[in-house]
Amino acid sequence: MIQFEQVSKVYSGGRSALDNVNFHLKRGEMAFLTGHSGAGKSTLLKLITAIERPTLGTVTINGADVGQLKRHQVPFLRRNIGIIFQDHNLLMDRSVYDNVALPLLIEGFAEREIEKRVEAALDMVGLGDKLGYAPMHLSGGEQQRVGIARAVVARPPLLLADEPTGNLDPKLSMEILRLFEAFNRAGTTVLIATHDLGLIARMRYRTLTLKQGRMICADEVAA
Ligand code: ADP
Ligand code: ADP
Repeated sequence: MIQFEQVSKVYSGGRSALDNVNFHLKRGEMAFLTGHSGAGKSTLLKLITAIERPTLGTVTINGADVGQLKRHQVPFLRRNIGIIFQDHNLLMDRSVYDNVALPLLIEGFAEREIEKRVEAALDMVGLGDKLGYAPMHLSGGEQQRVGIARAVVARPPLLLADEPTGNLDPKLSMEILRLFEAFNRAGTTVLIATHDLGLIARMRYRTLTLKQGRMICADEVAA
């Protein structure tokens, strides 16, 4: 699903963010990506979504060489990737329903299908009774779950999360991780960038560790 071969990224100012990174995440796998601030986690995620291109090496996502994609092909890549952010980027004054429906509206789904999928996604994250709420009236943990429902509503085969529990206490963080686990069990490939080592230690998943742009112990497989 995700393959990095000798990938380096040097930003235009000359700053090296990734240095000869190699790893492979199989379809159906779930893994953590960790490392200190500045280690290159966000850059790695941005290479997967073609927000940034590799300076050297090859990034292959779902069979496609991301570095070679033409601009008009990028939306097709992103359609297959659900992305969850720490700050979830919700429209605070629109309803929970509208927020989750947005990706499907953009894709041009029929209204009946949108309704079905939005309700299913919100049920999965335990917010089936909050369709009409505005996110600003929900707790931080609930808002993050709206962001997750929005990321999975189009049923992408790959889920990426960038510090998804950054603003949550340990109990809520664990609940969020259990959700990722449930999507993974249903067949979704999941990559979670986090520097919350305590959280990672409580789960038996492979951990990819970046240190100053280099990946260490990429092939160490737990479980
Ligand atoms: P992390 O997500 O692990 O905190 P990043 O991928 O954001 O790490 O950053 C890795 C390195 O690349 C850092 O030194 C950061 O300052 C640098 N960097 C990130 N984005 C840019 C950018 N757009 N331009 C220049 N340097 C950047
Ligand atoms: P971090 O705080 O994790 O280092 P950055 O500050 O480098 O993240 O990220 C800057 C912004 O880039 C984020 O707020 C987010 O909007 C966007 N971003 C980060 N990762 C991705 C990604 N995988 N796909 C799309 N956008 C991303």
